[in-house]
Amino acid sequence: MARSLPNIIITGTPGVGKTTHCEALAERTGLKHISVNQIVKDKECHEGWDEEYQSWIVDEDKLLDALEEEVKDGGCIIDWHACDLFPKSWIDLVVVLRVDSATLYDRLTARKYPEVKLQENIDAEIMEVLLQEAKDSYDEDIVVVLTSNSSEEMDENVDRIEAWLGQWKKDNAPSS
Ligand code: ADP
Repeated sequence: MARSLPNIIITGTPGVGKTTHCEALAERTGLKHISVNQIVKDKECHEGWDEEYQSWIVDEDKLLDALEEEVKDGGCIIDWHACDLFPKSWIDLVVVLRVDSATLYDRLTARKYPEVKLQENIDAEIMEVLLQEAKDSYDEDIVVVLTSNSSEEMDENVDRIEAWLGQWKKDNAPSS
């Protein structure tokens, strides 16, 4: 599948800063921020609402169908706390954001997460669940781990991804 622009996944445990990074990157680069949460809600790619976890139960087949048209031409930054469902052929870069558990605790508490969800997410971050999922699902050379504890780190991350995009464009420029 030839694309004139790459597709990037920004993933990580809820609260690491995916949406904040995607918004900044989209503004800086003109790539399109795809909030999977929003698509699940808007296009009803779910099998109902989980009361305990206060989240949608995602129907992955419906979700992939809803995303395919959008993603096939490239230029998307996919924002989601999972990455193993997207076909390898769609994706050019996987950014896994990491954060210290004390910082994550504060961010998720501020979001008023239910206790069970809060604890599971902190455990998932400590156990590197998303990082492992990314490594298991994609070639290791497209998986990048970045920390997101502070706004300085976020600025550095956005600069780095923008530089990667510049290089990708050069490497994939149509030959004249
Ligand atoms: P996610 O999309 O991964 O759930 P968000 O982007 O919504 O995370 O960020 C969760 C909260 O943490 C927000 O209040 C955001 O402003 C803050 N935040 C995210 N990344 C950083 C960072 N690198 N430095 C400081 N605060 C951050």
